[in-house]
Amino acid sequence: MNHDDLRDWSKRAADWAHAYHAGLRDRPVRAASAPGDIAAQLPAAAPETPEPMETIFADFERIVPPGLTHWQHPRFFAYFPANAAPASMLAEQLTNAIAAQGMLWQTSPAATEIEQVMMVWLRGALGLGDHFTGTIHDSATTATLSAVLTMRERALGWEGLQKGLSGGPRLRIYAGTEAHSSVDKAVRVAGIGQDNLVRVATDGRGAMKPGALAGAIAADRAAGHLPAGVVLVAGGTSVGAFDRIGDCLQVARAEGLYSHVDAAWAGSAMICPEFRPLWDGIDGADSLVFNPHKWLGAQFDCAVQFLADPAPQVRSLSLRPEYLQTLEHDEVVNFNEWTVPLGRRFRALKLWFLLRAYGLEGLRARIRNHVAWARELCEEIRPMAGVEIVTEPSLSLFSFALRAGDTATEALLTRINADGRIYLTQTSHRGRFVIRVQVGQFDCTREDVFCVARVLREMLG
Ligand code: PLP
Repeated sequence: MNHDDLRDWSKRAADWAHAYHAGLRDRPVRAASAPGDIAAQLPAAAPETPEPMETIFADFERIVPPGLTHWQHPRFFAYFPANAAPASMLAEQLTNAIAAQGMLWQTSPAATEIEQVMMVWLRGALGLGDHFTGTIHDSATTATLSAVLTMRERALGWEGLQKGLSGGPRLRIYAGTEAHSSVDKAVRVAGIGQDNLVRVATDGRGAMKPGALAGAIAADRAAGHLPAGVVLVAGGTSVGAFDRIGDCLQVARAEGLYSHVDAAWAGSAMICPEFRPLWDGIDGADSLVFNPHKWLGAQFDCAVQFLADPAPQVRSLSLRPEYLQTLEHDEVVNFNEWTVPLGRRFRALKLWFLLRAYGLEGLRARIRNHVAWARELCEEIRPMAGVEIVTEPSLSLFSFALRAGDTATEALLTRINADGRIYLTQTSHRGRFVIRVQVGQFDCTREDVFCVARVLREMLG
């Protein structure tokens, strides 16, 4: 295949994509395939000789779609969304065509400078203070890992960078009970160890208690441990809990600890000023991550990390061997020094296209609809016989269960997802098996959302 063929096949792929999206409502949301079904259709080894693209494309059409869970399906209410607005998809096509590496400013000045400007645009869109600057990672997990590595190095006085952790004090990181598993992963990967992730007590709404945070830090200091940082959640994955951001950040600051706020999902909603009280005090954070690839509409992957001062993170992560030295333009930002990987995709382009093609007003309208429809749907479900709303809507996420107990609730979820018209997933809330409903797919309509009530009514008979 050469670039002339690529042009022709790209047109064919664009037509396929158009038909795929137009027909999504006719497909079951979740993949219906059994484990091994797809692999069984592929030969055991790579071909020795070239195959015609016609055959490859036909196999794609035959094998792949039945093995997909359709994340862009308008009736996808599982997990959190991974939206891909058409304008961001178009930008991704261009990014793929360019296939640039943005590790240094000089390896693609446009990638670095558009990323810098997008951070300023998004900072303004979210109502954040002008002191924040930022960068783009592949995922919130990587951003949180970067923040935890910074906590570690800062607490060790930067000695860990050379000497490692052996023989050092026991580092402690603090998070509430609703923090995402990416925080556990970060402390593991950072060599701090999951036992040193202190789960601070939360209140009835899952919000970290500032007094409990201060108490846990004091107890650790008394035990000779080394408190290093606090990770707060703004919009937890399970049921959308928010820690008391401002109060907890005050404790972190008073204790001299580095802070990171995980707003991977809910951060997108903060383009709407009316939701910002949920993260009141956010300007006091050292680090903050949100995923435009979740609710905002930027195609996966795109996780934005804002930093009040990038210097500690850059000190933790940057390396400059001779082959990465830039021989001119010392004043530029080389974003690989802000992140774990060296190579970086040109992710800012899709933000540029997204923000311009829909405008902040267009994006706000979608998020406001999602929140309003989730609340309406919750009220529709509340009176259903045998059903209990377990957690009230947090933005566009709520959960419910059957009063008959976990086994009945799990059986109901299995039936719902086997039906295929909608897709929901579960969580455990205070030891109970509950079904989550999140509304956030970019193209969903009020009718799609109310399909949840229709399906439930049918299933509950
Ligand atoms: N934090 C929260 C609150 C999340 O909901 C998620 C994923 O759903 C993550 C972190 C991890 O996100 P990513 O897949 O970008 O690593």
